[in-house]
Amino acid sequence: MKRILYIPFDHLHREYGVLKDSDPKNDLIVLVESARMTSGRPWHPTRLYFLISSARHFAAELRAEGFTVDYVKAATTVDGLTAARRRHGDLPIICAEPSSFKQMQNLQDFGVTFIPNDFFLTPRPLFAQWASAQKSFLMENFYRGQRIRLNILVDGNSPLGGAWNFDKDNRLPPPKNFTWPPYLEHEIDEIDREVASELNYEPTTTWATTRDGALKQLRHFLEYHFAAFGPYEDAMTADNWSLHHSLLSPYLNNGLLHASEVVAAAIEKFEEGSIPLESCEGFIRQIIGWREYVNGMYWFLGEEYREENQLNSTRKLLPLFSDSSKTAMRCVKEAVGDIEKRAWTHHIPRLMVLSNLALLTGVNPQEFLEWMRENFIDASEWVMVPNVIGMGMHADSGRMMTKPYISGGAYISKMSNYCKGCGYSPKNRTGDDACPFTTLYWDFLDRYQDEFKSNHRMRQQFFGLQRLGDLSELRQRASEVLNGLDAGDI
Ligand SMILES: Cc1cc2nc3c(=O)[nH]c(=O)nc-3n(C[C@H](O)[C@H](O)[C@H](O)COP(=O)(O)OP(=O)(O)OC[C@H]3O[C@@H](n4cnc5c(N)ncnc54)[C@H](O)[C@@H]3O)c2cc1C
Ligand code: SF4
Repeated sequence: MKRILYIPFDHLHREYGVLKDSDPKNDLIVLVESARMTSGRPWHPTRLYFLISSARHFAAELRAEGFTVDYVKAATTVDGLTAARRRHGDLPIICAEPSSFKQMQNLQDFGVTFIPNDFFLTPRPLFAQWASAQKSFLMENFYRGQRIRLNILVDGNSPLGGAWNFDKDNRLPPPKNFTWPPYLEHEIDEIDREVASELNYEPTTTWATTRDGALKQLRHFLEYHFAAFGPYEDAMTADNWSLHHSLLSPYLNNGLLHASEVVAAAIEKFEEGSIPLESCEGFIRQIIGWREYVNGMYWFLGEEYREENQLNSTRKLLPLFSDSSKTAMRCVKEAVGDIEKRAWTHHIPRLMVLSNLALLTGVNPQEFLEWMRENFIDASEWVMVPNVIGMGMHADSGRMMTKPYISGGAYISKMSNYCKGCGYSPKNRTGDDACPFTTLYWDFLDRYQDEFKSNHRMRQQFFGLQRLGDLSELRQRASEVLNGLDAGDI
């Protein structure tokens, strides 16, 4: 053997990264299951099961193809690579650029040679070139450039259908009396059972752990959910935990699927004629816009960005985040309950329920970030840091987002059916049955007037605050709500 090709657990694709130029005669493949990754923190068992089983399946597929694969269990990645060298000789180690600053540094220090990371559609230097030329980093501007650069849903430099996005036609509440298609279940095999037994975990059929399963999930989405993706992408319902979302983030993030394959399959389906443009555009925007933008911003903003806490928020993580029985707020109970069951909930519960609550209550952004990192199946450093620090917690003085994503109960009431079965009332901001979101929303504006009053995008919100005649009562209720949330009895 002439080289060691090191495959991190999020580079599991045969056609990308180091494997695209590999040769079973000269290249030894090494994967490392590090104890730091499996037992270093209170990781959600579904997340561990998914990541480990996917990697072991991938190793088995490479062996079946004729590669020599060393799947090493070690304390750390570097220990694993050291052990591989001890066994196979002092060979050069090649890897595609890792997906976090920390891993990049560790491997660099160990002497690993990198090739560019091609698991995204936008090379890191290209994004940096775009970002360096911006006054503010509006995702929409980046996205329009992506549409033209990648030649997707455009006619020359103009958007297909005459508009770059159709959000005004989207944002519908959940459909009433709708029969949801059955969830796709994935079969469990011998490798899954082995991993589950090591983790002492009951394996789930929600998530696939192979490329075949990931492709099945893609086809299922295109067949049953793609057409209605756009209009309902912001809706939440107690009747169905995934609505029309694709459930593809785990596979996109661990490499079982590549963004270019997902985009190509979506465009092919759209061209068959049964998918409305607003759904196709809405989905494409998530993949070539948001996903690429978030990855680009992670690298552009730098390693220190994850420590930002510009609002000086110091509250400890609320008990309800780790235990859904610690709250009577139905929207929060459902979102945390979904995470407990399957390590996933869609974008709007992440942003407008969980992050909204953390921001309004002043939870420390780093504590909230760590909780999200540990509990989501699709969490990685590159994607969680900008989404939580920039988008969810507005902890970066608005470097990413022009205003904080905050709302009272009215937004959740409009976009979901949670409030009907909740003991709190989204319309009330004071009194025992006041919706905690509504109370804390006004209290947040009251507390942070100095920080946000000059933000012209928040003028309406502050205008509303000035018209409140019950501010002292509101402050009193907010203090009760915060104490109740800290005690886990709201
Ligand atoms: C606070 C917060 C934390 C988040 N943490 C993660 C995370 O750890 N991992 C993760 O993959 N996504 C994260 N997201 C983005 C988004 O919520 C998930 O990508 C999405 O819910 C995954 O489900 P899906 O595959 O069904 O997505 P769909 O709604 O079907 O969207 C399709 C794809 O678009 C991509 N996408 C859409 N929005 C984003 C975004 N903001 N950032 C990155 N990719 C995006 C994802 O790859 C997703 O699979 C987070 C968002 C917020 C607000
Ligand atoms: S009333 Fe408030 S707490 Fe209850 S479900 Fe609605 S938004 Fe959530």
